[in-house]
Amino acid sequence: MTDLAGKKGVVVGVANRRSIAWAIAQAAAAGGARLALTYQDDRLKENVRELSTCLDRPLLLPCDVSSDDQVQRLFDVVGDEFGGLDFLVHAAAFAPRAELAGRFVATSREGFRIALDVSAYSLISLARGAHPLMLGNGGGSILTLTYLGSQRVFPNYNVMGVAKAALEAAVRYLASDLGAENIRVNAISAGPIKTLAASGISGFSDILQVYRERAPLRRNVEAAEVADAAMFLLGPAGRAVTGEILLVDAGFHSVGL
Ligand code: NAP
Repeated sequence: MTDLAGKKGVVVGVANRRSIAWAIAQAAAAGGARLALTYQDDRLKENVRELSTCLDRPLLLPCDVSSDDQVQRLFDVVGDEFGGLDFLVHAAAFAPRAELAGRFVATSREGFRIALDVSAYSLISLARGAHPLMLGNGGGSILTLTYLGSQRVFPNYNVMGVAKAALEAAVRYLASDLGAENIRVNAISAGPIKTLAASGISGFSDILQVYRERAPLRRNVEAAEVADAAMFLLGPAGRAVTGEILLVDAGFHSVGL
């Protein structure tokens, strides 16, 4: 696969080898892209460094997406090193653990603020940072990760469902705002996959089981399958697609019962 040959991309959200962002990074690298990977703080730096040893001249940069300064610094360095940018993968989300269990009506103001800031606003601030670098390259593709909990209620997903609804709306507004500059903005709504972030959601194994039983394909999806769909949206095959939420969930979203 050479769809991303010579392209430069930033991937935000690699925590470990189970991360959806890591599956996308591997697929993009296999497609010929050169990558900058970010890590939130020193806690995850070593993980990301170790993983990145199989990539071609990766850039490793700190970026806590809740910090405007760190986002700006990220794109300053990427601009200096890459001279432009072709794609951005946003795969970061967070809500305080207490918000991902129990009653939704108990959602705290601070929990709501943090979840919306890290999981939704960050797409806007990263897109703003990527914008001038993509302009210089004649356009670009921005991709984020969402979940069906934005549209329907899932047990314990709680405030993250509200954050994902905001994220999906941000995809449409960014797509409209940046489209005239040939910058596309899309999301993949992935089926449940056992990752570090997912392990914070109470009863996550039950959700996996329900998908296996009821999804048209009668199975769960793998991160590598999400990455294949990501290659379509990031690469030239997806050049006329923007403002889209692509469901990669073995068809679960389509069934009623
Ligand atoms: P993951 O491996 O745990 O990745 C989540 C990433 O978000 C981690 O790298 C995490 O870093 C990062 N993050 C959290 N707060 C951050 C901050 N302030 N600044 C920078 N990074 C931050 O889990 P994942 O499942 O692959 O999640 C990737 C995306 O896919 C998320 O948007 C998630 O909602 C979405 N998604 C997941 C599933 C699923 O079932 N797994 C389904 C649909 C959509 P830390 O570990 O340091 O917090």
